[in-house]
Amino acid sequence: MRPDVLNPLFAESQTLDGVGPKLAKPLEKLGLTRVRDLIYHLPERFVTRRAITNLDEAGEGEQVIVALTPTEHRSSRNPGRGPFRVLAQDDIGNICAITYFGRASYTGKKQLPVGEKRWVAGRLDRYGDMLQIVHPDHVEETSDANMGRMTEAVYRLSEGLTQPRVASLVEQSLSKAPELPEWIEPGQFEREGWPSWQEAVKEAHKGPNEAARNRLAYDELLANSLALLLVKADSRRRKGQALQGDGSLRAKLDLPFEMTGAQKRSVTEIEGDLQQEAPMLRLLQGDVGAGKTVVALHAMLIANEAGKQAALLAPTEILARQHYETLRKMAAPCGVEVALLTGRAKGREREGLLMGLIQGEIDILVGTHAIFQDSVTYKDLGLVVIDEQHRFGVAQRLALAGKGKRAPHTLAMTATPIPRSLTLAQYGEMDVSRLDELPPGRQAIDTLVFPQSRLDEMVAAVGRHLASGSQAYWVCPMVRENEVTDIAAAEARYAALSEHFGDAVVMVHGQLHPDIKDANMARFASGQAKLLIATTVIEVGVDVPSATLMVIEQAERFGLAQLHQLRGRVGRGSEKSRCVLLRGDELSETGKKRLTYVKESQDGFLLAEKDLELRGGGELLGTRQSGEAAFRIADLDQVQKLLPAAHADARLLMERDGGLTSKRGEAARILLYLFERDWGVQLLRGG
Ligand code: ADP
Ligand code: MG
Repeated sequence: MRPDVLNPLFAESQTLDGVGPKLAKPLEKLGLTRVRDLIYHLPERFVTRRAITNLDEAGEGEQVIVALTPTEHRSSRNPGRGPFRVLAQDDIGNICAITYFGRASYTGKKQLPVGEKRWVAGRLDRYGDMLQIVHPDHVEETSDANMGRMTEAVYRLSEGLTQPRVASLVEQSLSKAPELPEWIEPGQFEREGWPSWQEAVKEAHKGPNEAARNRLAYDELLANSLALLLVKADSRRRKGQALQGDGSLRAKLDLPFEMTGAQKRSVTEIEGDLQQEAPMLRLLQGDVGAGKTVVALHAMLIANEAGKQAALLAPTEILARQHYETLRKMAAPCGVEVALLTGRAKGREREGLLMGLIQGEIDILVGTHAIFQDSVTYKDLGLVVIDEQHRFGVAQRLALAGKGKRAPHTLAMTATPIPRSLTLAQYGEMDVSRLDELPPGRQAIDTLVFPQSRLDEMVAAVGRHLASGSQAYWVCPMVRENEVTDIAAAEARYAALSEHFGDAVVMVHGQLHPDIKDANMARFASGQAKLLIATTVIEVGVDVPSATLMVIEQAERFGLAQLHQLRGRVGRGSEKSRCVLLRGDELSETGKKRLTYVKESQDGFLLAEKDLELRGGGELLGTRQSGEAAFRIADLDQVQKLLPAAHADARLLMERDGGLTSKRGEAARILLYLFERDWGVQLLRGG
């Protein structure tokens, strides 16, 4: 049971004043479903604005407050897709465009009637020859109210939310933040001079405050370490079952290739673990294309040989399907029954599946998290394979997987090469097998950097590529740290490229209905569609060997690891593959370095280390929304700086008070609940 003191924090966001059904969706989109989430929705940055009397006084990129009078509303030819522009004039006749994408256009139209002076706060940019402000933070009729606030938090938004709205919800939420008992080790707490939890959350929203931010990050790291240690302790306590394969099923495999040394070594390591009674907790780390699936198949066949079932958990529906198809084909000669279960299976089909599982007719089940719902019962589950896309939450899934009395063995797979210093943070004390050798015959991917300004040439080159019968990916830029505008940009690019290539083009992005997304992916995978346009949501693991060209717009905005992952979508067949990184005009030093590293190396492990090196605290652009960030609050810098202490602290606490019953132990339980690591607490009870 959740401690009472936390109840106000776990109230639904909808209980706050001014939140109706209309706001529920955009809030949910950002994961802000409860008061707690809003409190932890820390500002991405703070802006300090300058009030100016006319636009001549400000430079490009500057945050300003200025009075403007709209002169014209200009809708795009493509309504609904944007952009919608309001042309407006300052006091001395300078013209500025105020630009909106998507549904924000309606807000803009309403707030900026022609002929009426308004105070506009936002970032002054340039669009072609014109000055522009995209999605202003505030539009007011008078210069007081919000306009008076020169330093202001900037929050991540989703479509339907504005800065002032989020700020007011955060403020309300903060007023509900209780005092909580201190869970940080007293020595540490004093040495650092950190504020209490309650003070820290308040300070963190007020202005840049390193101590407050560090404290909150430390909390998250401590909660994570503690939960991982609880999982580990629990799995040590629980009995698993030793799985002894006789090789009979594996002998029937008829693979068209020889396994690499790294694959064989990993299988041997896994086989050794499975023979132990203690449940395996192993991470299979291997770059994109390293061949993790075959290793997983071997592991699952060992379980089958031992008379047990195996399950493979994929992060998305698309990936689950793809794994299912691959495994079914590969395992066909072995005569094992492979089935697919996703959230979409309904009625008879679902019942049939569930029956097959209970009765043990299904040997290998592939699916999304649906495979661990309470209603799903296995006859005898011996092994769980987790194909992990997002690093965050692995441990939780491990705990999930271990619901039964006898813990199944667990193999987690990740395509993201994680720097050694971070493995501990993400995966706790798991054993690691590394696939550090690519299958033979892989050709290096030619990586080129090309200025975005030569987009036309790029389009022509893509045209030639498609005409030759090959396929290609086109990854759209992250325009701002804001999903709305990113999708607007993707839609615009889709419209433009469709004009060139007609219905050979399909698009996937996060806001499409899953059915449409799947259908589009399927058209691309089957070769019907030749060009796939995507935001960064291209599913990791999507495997279309005949796609041999990848274009990434504004590549400098992506993290190194992310670029590497994206590039890994090509170079999967025997054909020569290319990756073109389009770079914007304003290239930071870090951006430049990133592109150079990606161009020069294809070693995921190396790039991951470089990525960590390059990302100072400030350069986290885009990592959060891409799901790449491991933690919600701690950034990479903080992880590196604070994790060792947090981990040591957690260990010490576990050694002294493994049941978390002391005063500080009780506080630590609150911490676990606060970060929803309460499955960790539940494990305590099991033991
Ligand atoms: P990932 O590690 O990214 O999941 P996959 O398991 O999807 O990689 O493998 C990528 C491709 O390489 C697949 O088409 C697979 O059949 C092939 N493959 C895997 N192992 C080998 C090997 N040892 N030799 C040749 N091809 C292989
Ligand atoms: Mg894979």
